[in-house]
Amino acid sequence: MAVGSGDCPDLRALCEHIGDCHRCPLGSTRTQVVFGSGDPRAELMFVGEAPGRNEDLEGAPFVGAAGRFLDELLQSIGLERSQVYIANVVKCRPPGNRDPLPLEIETCTPFLRRQMELIAPRVVATLGRFSAHWLLDTEVPISALRGRLYHVGDIRVVPVFHPAAALYDASKRDVLFEDFKRLRAVCDDRRDGATSASAQTPEAPLASGAAPAVQDRQPADLSDPASEAPGLSHGDPSQGALF
Ligand code: SF4
Repeated sequence: MAVGSGDCPDLRALCEHIGDCHRCPLGSTRTQVVFGSGDPRAELMFVGEAPGRNEDLEGAPFVGAAGRFLDELLQSIGLERSQVYIANVVKCRPPGNRDPLPLEIETCTPFLRRQMELIAPRVVATLGRFSAHWLLDTEVPISALRGRLYHVGDIRVVPVFHPAAALYDASKRDVLFEDFKRLRAVCDDRRDGATSASAQTPEAPLASGAAPAVQDRQPADLSDPASEAPGLSHGDPSQGALF
C-alpha cells in the first residue's frame, strides 16, 4: 500500500488520510493515532519505535519519561523540539508496549514513508532498533549500528539507542549524549555544504516497499562526519569504524 503524492500532497492531507485508522490490528487496541509532531520543514527528523502509554493518551510522540530525556538530549546540542520533527515506525500503541509486529510495521510504514518524503529531512536519527532496521533494511543489532553514519539516498542516517533504554540502563545515558554530539556534527556538516553523500552515491530506482529514497545504506566513520566512506559494503557495519 503506497501513499502517493496525489493522495497526500501535505502533512495535513496525510493525517486526514490516516484518519481513524484500523488498517492493522493496533487500530482496535489504541486510544488514538499518534501522527508525529514538530517542524514540518525540519532538517533533522527523529524516528522512534511506537507510541507508549502516555503518547497513546496524549496523541503526541515522546511525552513520557523517555520524551523528557529526549528533550534533555536535544538541549545538550542546542536544539528544541520545535526545530525537529518526531515520528514513529508505527503510529498506534502496541498493547502492553510490546514490540510492533512485522505485519503492523509493514502496514503502517507507508505513512511514515510519505511523511518523510513531505518533510524531506537532510538527517534522520533513528531511535532504537526498529526504526534503524526499517530504514537501513538490516537486522544488525542497534549496538553495532550506532556510532556510524549511513547514507540512504540523499538522507544521512544516524542510528542511536532509544532514549528509553537509558532509563533502564544508566550506561547508555553517556553513550546517547556522545552520539547526539556526533549527530549535531553531522547536521552542521551538511548545513555547511560539506561533501554530499548523494554526490558520491549512485542513484537507483526506489524499490517497492523500501523506505523513502533508501537505495544505499553505506556506513561511514561518524567520528569524522566530513570524511565519509561511500563504497563500504551494503549494510555491513563491520566495515565502519566506531567512535
Ligand atoms: S499502527 Fe498504523 S496501520 Fe495500524 S492502525 Fe495504527 S495508523 Fe493504522
